[in-house]
Amino acid sequence: MRDERLIVVALGGNAFQSRGDRGSPREYWANAYKSAEIIVDLVELGYKVVVTHGNGPQVGVIDEWMFLGLKMKGLPPMTLDIAGAMSQGWLGYILQQAVYNKLVERGLLNKRVRGVVSLITQTLVDKNDPDFKDPSKYIGPWYEKEEAEKMSREYGWIFKQDPRGGFRRVVPSPDPVRQIELEAAKTLINNDFIVILSGGGGVPVYINERGFLEGVEAVVDKDLAAERIATSIRAGILMILTDVDKVYLNYGRPDAKPIDIMTLSEAKRYYAEGHFKPGSMGPKILAAIRFIENGGLEAIIAHLNKAREAVEKRSGTRVVPDHILKT
Ligand code: ADP
Ligand code: MG
Repeated sequence: MRDERLIVVALGGNAFQSRGDRGSPREYWANAYKSAEIIVDLVELGYKVVVTHGNGPQVGVIDEWMFLGLKMKGLPPMTLDIAGAMSQGWLGYILQQAVYNKLVERGLLNKRVRGVVSLITQTLVDKNDPDFKDPSKYIGPWYEKEEAEKMSREYGWIFKQDPRGGFRRVVPSPDPVRQIELEAAKTLINNDFIVILSGGGGVPVYINERGFLEGVEAVVDKDLAAERIATSIRAGILMILTDVDKVYLNYGRPDAKPIDIMTLSEAKRYYAEGHFKPGSMGPKILAAIRFIENGGLEAIIAHLNKAREAVEKRSGTRVVPDHILKT
């Protein structure tokens, strides 16, 4: 049985940094408050909300600056899993404070919810995932070609051309299996806490021969990680919030067509036909497909500013099981 009032919300990059922002703390707080507003709106509508978010720009910035800063001082570099954990702390802190303050403002703290907590989360991955051989996840800032080539030579980083322009560092993005801290999260969720977990997809770890956890240098896709959470806690709804109003067929072309609703079979067909770009809309649709296949009631992909309309079926794109009559 699925809980139709339990919703997992996956926040995209624009939840913290808007297009054109330079990444100042002021901008981070302003964006986080908008995101917090949305989360608290959902609480007010009667939903139990679980939150996750991406970290692509931040994990890249942390890793790069630590690398360069430590190098300048002749100190050994940090690792990407540690940078991932730091990004969870950074964004988790900002969001949990913003949501807390919004709950206070609306008089909902200790009524509908008892508190907000972000969890440093580890996500189990396969150490032999094919992505380790052919990295696909863009992180950090955008560079000109020459600059990227220079950094690649000097630091051994891999750069690829970003479809949105410029060159960006890429790192492996193994498929998430499950979140290690899931039981702890469930305990908090069942006790009416808003939990922010698996930030940046969660820090990727594997289980070694002795049964111990070990971090790996990679960044998990947050949309695929969100599906793992939603399926594991038996949420009714998986809502992926991003910077486009709807999912489109033939995106970016003159004949682009927005989708209001698609069945699982349709989503799979369009996915196979290549309508959704890898590294952006691709993983969102894949997460939606997996969620519905695993028994989810509805996956929604919508603009961050239209979350409320989207749960009320007035905005966004919905993916539903095949037996649901499209209305
Ligand atoms: P987020 O940080 O929310 O994960 P992404 O950039 O990864 O954001 O994904 C959202 C982007 O996906 C949109 O800005 C859009 O440019 C791109 N995109 C690719 N294919 C499609 C599609 N078929 N329909 C809509 N958007 C698409
Ligand atoms: Mg993305």
